[in-house]
Amino acid sequence: MNENELRKIAEDYPFAGRKPKQADTVVRVGEVEFGAGHFAVIGGPCAVESERQINEAAAAVSLAGAALLRGGVFKPRTSPYTYQGIGEQGIAMLVAAGKRYGLPVVSEITAAEQIPWFSEVDLLQVGARNMQNYALLKALGQCRQPILLKRGLSATLQELLFSAEYILAGGNPNVILCERGIRTYDTITRNTLDLAAVPLLKKLSHLPVIVDPSHGTGIRSLVLPMSLAATAAGADGLMIEMHPHPEQAMSDGEQSLTVEEFRELIVAVSRLRTVSGNCSRLRDDQ
Ligand code: PEP
Ligand code: MN
Repeated sequence: MNENELRKIAEDYPFAGRKPKQADTVVRVGEVEFGAGHFAVIGGPCAVESERQINEAAAAVSLAGAALLRGGVFKPRTSPYTYQGIGEQGIAMLVAAGKRYGLPVVSEITAAEQIPWFSEVDLLQVGARNMQNYALLKALGQCRQPILLKRGLSATLQELLFSAEYILAGGNPNVILCERGIRTYDTITRNTLDLAAVPLLKKLSHLPVIVDPSHGTGIRSLVLPMSLAATAAGADGLMIEMHPHPEQAMSDGEQSLTVEEFRELIVAVSRLRTVSGNCSRLRDDQ
């Protein structure tokens, strides 16, 4: 596909496309900004497991200098026999931990009926399994909070952008796209992290694009190198799973960083950004 054909694709998206809006969109989550050169890291456990665990995680996120705290309370798991999340009561734990450490919070919403429970959650995550849950996307179009929209397990980038259209066309202008790996024939990694998606999405769309190398690889030792690669590719942020005690995690412990590894990652990414952040062509060459 040549550059002209790519430009034509951008015209298919009246709200998300680069054609109607040339300038990068900045999405604000509390005081934190994503897009147009603003970069932020979201850190925290896969799941909120207890008050103590989420407070320990929040302390580590804050101390490392990351910007947002994550933690799922509704976990859409492949097997119904694995941990399904702490449920609605976990939202209060997450919000309290975020407030205590001055961090905006992000959590995954899995159904439109849950919207009232998420009123104090700063960023609503749509997980890979719900990227094409159109009823949910339409409902989120009416929400005041920004939305973190993750790419579906086998979704094309055009499908991801159409899902963003559902939210934007519904009246919510604040959408952050997230590359989190897709299913390919390789089975060693949990998914295949598609980093070309970053510059490509930014060519097609003005929306911020972040990368989740935790679900994108499923392997702890790959999270740092893929974070650096995503940063170098021009991502507007990262979402990293980190657990105070990964070996005790109820879900995704094998891909979760320790507190120390998370701290090292933030340092390494910041160092890289002082170099690559100056490369304007990485941001946008329209
Ligand atoms: C998550 O962020 O914990 C998660 C379930 O991610 P995904 O929807 O990308 O699988
Ligand atoms: Mn997870």
